[in-house]
Amino acid sequence: MDENKILVLSGDGVGPEAVDEVKKIINFFNKKKILNIAIEEDLVGGACIDEHNVPIKDETIENAKKSDAVLLGAVGGPKWDNLPFDKRPEQGLLRLRSDLELFANLRPAISFDPLIHASSLKPEIIKGLDILIVRELTGGVYFGKPRGIEDLGNGQRRGINTQVYTTDEIKRVAQVAFELAKKRKKILTSVEKSNVMESGKLWKEEVEKLGKIKYPNIDLKHMYADNCAMQLIRNPKQFDIILTDNLFGDLLSDAAAMLTGSLGMLPSASLGKINNGNYSSGLYEPVHGSAPDIAGKNIANPIATILSFSMMVFYSFNNQNLSKIIDKSVKKVLDNGFRTEDIMDKESKKVGTKEMGDLITKEIEKNF
Ligand code: NAD
Repeated sequence: MDENKILVLSGDGVGPEAVDEVKKIINFFNKKKILNIAIEEDLVGGACIDEHNVPIKDETIENAKKSDAVLLGAVGGPKWDNLPFDKRPEQGLLRLRSDLELFANLRPAISFDPLIHASSLKPEIIKGLDILIVRELTGGVYFGKPRGIEDLGNGQRRGINTQVYTTDEIKRVAQVAFELAKKRKKILTSVEKSNVMESGKLWKEEVEKLGKIKYPNIDLKHMYADNCAMQLIRNPKQFDIILTDNLFGDLLSDAAAMLTGSLGMLPSASLGKINNGNYSSGLYEPVHGSAPDIAGKNIANPIATILSFSMMVFYSFNNQNLSKIIDKSVKKVLDNGFRTEDIMDKESKKVGTKEMGDLITKEIEKNF
């Protein structure tokens, strides 16, 4: 069996606790020879600053490039809040994303039936919801130049940011979305503001062109970003995959994520180039941060990190069946009424981080 080499960067706060629960699943897969995963571990974020005075080491970046995938817990915390911006824990994460050229950020929004009442929307609007936002992550207005704040004199200042995209930047992220659409419902909604922005017009034209030439069997739709925000709240189940730029993706993925309720449940993947049908060195991490308020108390929800590992199995190891088993096992444990504190309700049984990890691992084991 091929070996999958993964780099584990547990980071700070609840990161290591949540990652420990993923290791239980990996140990089981290795023991039963379902997968052959070799784990290497290293420091990132505040933990790395404490040890090496930098948020990530150059060797760690090189190691990440050589790995099949990277699993990250979380970074940051009050201990490092007063450091200058370029020395803070979050820089470790930003450097990983840019050095690995992870231009496509995938954030699923899946509604789990047992948690349906955690959403602020009516149950019938979100029951069965399963959408995926593909956000361009390394271009657009957050990186475009010129940028800055100018002094115009007379007490006036001007703030400038530039929204800019090239053909290649649009095509490479669109290709990721089209490829994913082939594996899902073959529907893709590309979102921009081509009515008022030239970069949006280019986005729409390039996505349209790529779709016609390479993906004629995908049903490609276009939507303005403001309408998409409204439709996500009005009728989110009309979407399967939403493809959009960095800025709109930032906003729309947060809105979509909250349709499903809790931060402790949200996984993510950041992917780069596709080599021979596989993504190279994807980065998998929960959407939540290091949650310093609950760190070390065995109350953090490990599910977002477990589901991030499931995305790794799906996208980097190309094993859709195994990924489905992990997802189904999470759902079964929730169906059985077990909850960590963040998703607790009156009728459920409260469990800690470790117990939730044990229950999910046991549920996975029943499939083999
Ligand atoms: P946060 O996501 O850490 O926490 C927000 C709230 O959600 C807190 O009340 C926390 O207890 C709760 N929460 C988060 N994850 C949870 C989990 N798994 N189970 C149960 N409850 C959970 O966001 P924040 O408080 O704004 O930031 C804390 C630190 O994390 C900061 O230093 C911030 O910069 C950093 N951060 C890191 C990342 C990352 O590593 N990707 C993302 C966001 C924030």
